[in-house]
Amino acid sequence: MPEQIQAVVMTAPGQPLEMRTFPGPHPEPGGAVIETVASEVCGTDVHLHHGRLPGVPYPIIPGHVSVGRVLETGGALRDVEGGAIEPGRLVTFYDVFGTCGSCWHCLVAKAATRCPHRRVYGITTSAQDGLLGGWARQIELKAGVRVLPLPDGLAVEDFMGAGCGGPTGFHAVERAGIALGDTVVVQGSGPVGLSALAFASLAGALRVLVIGAPASRLQAARRLGAEDTLDVTTARPQERVAWVRDRTGGRGADVVIEASGNPAAVGEGLEMIRDAGRYVVVGQYTDAGDVAINPHRHINRRHATVFGCWGYEYTHLHRATLLMARHRERFQWSRLVTREYALEDAGRALADMEGLAVVKALIRPGSR
Ligand SMILES: [Zn+2]
Ligand SMILES: [Zn+2]
Repeated sequence: MPEQIQAVVMTAPGQPLEMRTFPGPHPEPGGAVIETVASEVCGTDVHLHHGRLPGVPYPIIPGHVSVGRVLETGGALRDVEGGAIEPGRLVTFYDVFGTCGSCWHCLVAKAATRCPHRRVYGITTSAQDGLLGGWARQIELKAGVRVLPLPDGLAVEDFMGAGCGGPTGFHAVERAGIALGDTVVVQGSGPVGLSALAFASLAGALRVLVIGAPASRLQAARRLGAEDTLDVTTARPQERVAWVRDRTGGRGADVVIEASGNPAAVGEGLEMIRDAGRYVVVGQYTDAGDVAINPHRHINRRHATVFGCWGYEYTHLHRATLLMARHRERFQWSRLVTREYALEDAGRALADMEGLAVVKALIRPGSR
């Protein structure tokens, strides 16, 4: 009898998750099959379960950032430096594939994360097309998927502690163009905000201030090096702006990174930057509505620079992962993993993530 592989399927928004079995996959030429070691549960999965993202081909197998052990490859598989990736190797992979390299977005705008042909494991891949999400005992890596062996010394829990927040926060910091000695404010203390905090420190920020909730995440922020933290739920908007100004000589921060997902944070964040400061919006992954801003006061007279930041490219995953390995003792990313769940308990993991009961939740298909 052919091998059967279990996976968690999100059949439609609002429906309970289902455990289904799939035929054991075989790697296509240039691809691979990996045995899932851990896959993340993140805010994206909560949004997917509420149907807040357009163009999702339900039913899907969620889980876009994962680590696995290579079971079989479809011919020679190499990393970006030409090294062979053999069965048994512990790897992650860039969850985006299909970026065409030949459309207007790819070639003219050089904005590959806006390529209309890109597809994302666990988000825009249908369960009808196979094991293309991490909440499964095995994952099929299509030909062309960029595979990244985990660097020596970086444990699975370290890499997964930041999960997709790692390269996303890295990308936001790159967009911000942080200069040596900058004061940075991060709005939001989820994995994206916490990663932005860590990478901003590595980029030379003098200090990083974090506004977020709940207390467990703010505690993590201080452990990762935040100079000070403010609980967003106990301070009113004007008090939050004043809190930043009090710590910046009344001027505001050089850089503010929005990683909260709350549209109201944007008007508030623009009040927190100094004249000629920079503002990066990376947390508005879904359309949560409109807010009023004052173009004169917030942008024009302030001489502000405002950046959007959508997704990340392989370069961000690659460099973020190597930096995480280099600085794993300083940041102890693994401590962000609050709880691990068996495949059967994915529904509970999703509920805990939605309730902010965990910083990072992991699905461990190997555990029962
Ligand atoms: Zn393209
Ligand atoms: Zn994610």
